[in-house]
Parts: sequence; C-alpha cells; structure tokens
Amino acid sequence: MKNKKIISSIVLIISILIFGVVGVLYNSIDVDSNITNSAIENNFKKEDDILKVYYFNVGNADCTLLIFNNNTMLIDGANEADSSALIKYMKELGITKLDYVIATHSDEDHIAGLDKIIDAFELGTFYMPIIKVNSEPNKDKELKELIASVNRKGQIENPNINYEFAFGEVKCLIKWIADSTKVNSNKSSVVLEATYKENRFLFMGDYEPLTKKEREIYQEYNIDIEWNNVDVVKVAHHGSKTNLIQNFYNLLLPKYAIISAGIHDKNTVPDKEVTDAIEAETNAVILITKEFGTILIESDGKDVNLKEPIKNNFDGNR
Ligand SMILES: [Zn+2]
Repeated sequence: MKNKKIISSIVLIISILIFGVVGVLYNSIDVDSNITNSAIENNFKKEDDILKVYYFNVGNADCTLLIFNNNTMLIDGANEADSSALIKYMKELGITKLDYVIATHSDEDHIAGLDKIIDAFELGTFYMPIIKVNSEPNKDKELKELIASVNRKGQIENPNINYEFAFGEVKCLIKWIADSTKVNSNKSSVVLEATYKENRFLFMGDYEPLTKKEREIYQEYNIDIEWNNVDVVKVAHHGSKTNLIQNFYNLLLPKYAIISAGIHDKNTVPDKEVTDAIEAETNAVILITKEFGTILIESDGKDVNLKEPIKNNFDGNR
C-alpha cells in the first residue's frame, strides 16, 4: 500500500512537471490538442475531408507529406539517412501509394532519400524540373538512383509554370519551375500552391528568383509571379538569407511560416535576417522543425489548425 501511494505521488509530480513544461513551451502557440497523433493516424483511411500537411523534422533537408482523404502527395524526400524512418512512419499511417511525388529540385537534401521511398510505395505521378545529369560514373549518384527508381515504376514528368492539377478536392498550381540546364538548381526549384476551399498553402522548395540578367537571357522565365495571400508558407531554402526577398512576406501574410532546419552540420539556418523579415512584415507564427519537431497542420477548408508536434525522429543524421 505504501509503495502504491509513493508511486502514484511520483506519477502525479511527473505529470505536473510534463504539463508545466509543455505549457511553457507552447503557451504562445495555438496548438489544437483535441486529437492525439495516434487518432490522426487511424483516420487516414477515413474520408474526413480534412487536408493534413506534415512538415517532417529531417534536419537540414526537406520532406513534406500531404494527405487528403485517400490521396497522398510527397514533396521532396530528404537525405538518404532519413528515408527508413519516413517510410516506416508513412506505412504506419496506412499509406501504400504516393499519388503525387514532387522533387522540387536536384539537391541531395531534397532527393537523396527519395529513391528508397519510391521503392517502398506504389507511385502515381512524378514531377521534377528538367535536370542536368553528369554521366561520369562517380557524379550525381543520388540523382541517378532517383531516376532509376522512378523509371522502374513510372516516368518523370516536367510540368511548366502555371500547370494545374487536382489532389482530391485540393487544387494545385505550379507557380514556378525552371530548366536546371539553364539556371542553377535552386533557381529551378518547384514552387507549389495548394488551395483547399478557403485555405491556401505555399511550398517554396529552395526557390531563388532569377537575376535581372538571367531574366533577359531566358525570356521564357521573364515572369512576374503573382503571389497570393496564404495561410501557411514553407519558407524557401531552409530560411537562408541568400533566398531572402525583401517585402515578399507581406504579399503572402501567412498565419504560419514553416522553416525546415536542423541542428547539425551547419547550424546556421534559419538566418536572423529571414525571421526578422517575416516578423517585420507579418503576424505569422514562425515554426522551425529543429525546435518544434515534425509540424502537422490540418485544414477543413475554412481554418488551419496546428496540431501537437510529432516527436518521432526522422533526422537520420542526429
Ligand atoms: Zn535544400
């Protein structure tokens, strides 16, 4: 009896401590804790008309999963070391097929894990910019592995700017994509806008605008993109200042600005200049994966709701 009392006291103290800490960490962020992560996982096969967007915590890399009813879309596949945890988690969610896979551009932190992910699931449509592959045996290994994986199950499609497609009831628009045999890989990066009724999400990859000179040379890319207001933006290039465009975020006015960044290698991103610009130009809540963990945002078509962080470690380099 005495032991039982001691144990229940310890449990009570630990509970108070845990809730206290969580409360302090997230009291400034509106986290919807009504539904637990396991309940969300069990909901995958349910037609609940909720768009779920997972911004995986994969260190200095990128991987985003969208689920709408039974439809799935994966934007980028992070580093090679991250792929086994990502595959395991997506299988736990009940996913067997990736209806759309988008490789925003050919940098390793976006595509090195993608070949194994594609090997593990059925593949629908695969989008990527036109890319330059170095045919020398030791060059572009990850890219060659990705191309081989896609070719085993389907084909690579290179959509154009303003290409539209539907993902369940979610309307998708390629706002930017360029030929990376002409411009560098970040400048080729896919920028995707996904709209579900009144909610809009923008995924920027490592997008960087062309210089004035490049716009003169490549007239087909001499385009002024019309940016819309969005609820959620995934900030370009892990929040690096090299991709910062002044007075850009006040065109978007997001509620949430998501930055995918890790703590290892170069613990430099996001750059302060970028978070300062977002804070100065918007009222957005800035969420950084290395601090928050994997971010899940849900949309019912009217409101976007930030869920509790998913604590799984998807960063294979950590
Ligand atoms: Zn990147």
